[in-house]
Amino acid sequence: MSESESASQQPEAEEQAGERHHQRLLSIIPKQRPLRPDPSGRYFINEAQHDSTRLAARMIPLAAPHLLASLTNLLATAPPSLPWSGAFAKGLYCGLFVGPTSIAYLFLWLSKTHPDLLIDGKSPADYCAAYLALDQDKYGPEETNRSGCSLNHEFMCYNAVKACHTQDLRYVRAFVDNIDKLTMRPAFIEVLFGRAGLLSLMRTVKYFVPAAGEILDPHVDAVIEHCLSYDPWTFGVRPDHQKRYIGAAHGDIGIIASIVLSNASYAPRVQPRLERILALQLEDGNWPACDDDDSEKKGEELVQFCHGAPGMIWCLVAIQPFFPDLRDRIEAAVDKARGVVWEKGMLTKEPCLCHGITGNALTLTEPQRSHFLFYATAGIVKNGLADGAFEKSSDESGLWWSEAGRAWGWMMMDYEQSGRGNSLRDIGFPGVTNP
Ligand SMILES: [Zn+2]
Repeated sequence: MSESESASQQPEAEEQAGERHHQRLLSIIPKQRPLRPDPSGRYFINEAQHDSTRLAARMIPLAAPHLLASLTNLLATAPPSLPWSGAFAKGLYCGLFVGPTSIAYLFLWLSKTHPDLLIDGKSPADYCAAYLALDQDKYGPEETNRSGCSLNHEFMCYNAVKACHTQDLRYVRAFVDNIDKLTMRPAFIEVLFGRAGLLSLMRTVKYFVPAAGEILDPHVDAVIEHCLSYDPWTFGVRPDHQKRYIGAAHGDIGIIASIVLSNASYAPRVQPRLERILALQLEDGNWPACDDDDSEKKGEELVQFCHGAPGMIWCLVAIQPFFPDLRDRIEAAVDKARGVVWEKGMLTKEPCLCHGITGNALTLTEPQRSHFLFYATAGIVKNGLADGAFEKSSDESGLWWSEAGRAWGWMMMDYEQSGRGNSLRDIGFPGVTNP
């Protein structure tokens, strides 16, 4: 029986066991010093770097109770009911990024990885359905000034996730019929607001609804060709302020990953762009946010999923099998990148996937991964937000910036702990490197 199955049968007992385990861990830490931020304020000084006792004291032998605690908190903070409780942008739904559809996407994945998990007698599939029934159909198909065309576009994400959940091809058709109408920002290629995000949504639909492949494949190739027709890729809301971002959320590595994971035959076409990214790695293992930004002072680069080494690792691990010629270079780059994540990746922002401890932890291997995730456990997050050690996110439930993202991390860790595979490849970052 897997941990998840036992958790599903006795959620309260497991939760208490998790809490006891957590208290025990705290009690054996030799000297409990508060976390000290680096002078930049961006990250906490990682004292375990030179202190193996601290490192050993903060292992997470069982992710399952933490998954359950996180989901329980999520359901309490942002229940699947109206009016929607979300605080981000006055409760605006933003696809896989923030809002109920982003939480539905978490439960969609849990319905695959943890189908037997029950909370209050309901399964992940039940919760997926509940989070998809919150008036999403009030969001129209048009592209607006702030929607972009993909991961942040409620209509596109809703139809993609609804198709996965129901297996109903009508939602797939609603999705593809709208692709050619999203003409407002054709130069947006990055995953969050741009065309590459459409690729990952279509990939998800094909993954959960194999019969949709026939409908989607021509659109996948057309979107890839559209992406490749822009060189270099740039991003910026203002047309006169475009930057050559290279990170996972707004730049080249996320685009490259989404193209190759959608159709591996395009790998040779993007290989030169990938080689350029590898060449831009800095001495300390990190990457600058942009290819063209020499004003960025050394040592001030961001170390998070959206910009910097963590996002590079998520993407490079996922795409490495498609670039056999670059295998050694990619492995060396990932190893070097893990060094800077370990040193500067315990971020002071609220633990989350996009720019927080959870997203950074998953780029590391054990025991470093556990050490980071210790700081994303429920009690530490709660206390850290209350005493100001963590900087509160502007969203308190969604997938990229808050609790649903923490649950996503626990889902991945439990998947690995129960010996089911490599979670960076088999599950990935939602909307970017998912298979
Ligand atoms: Zn971010």
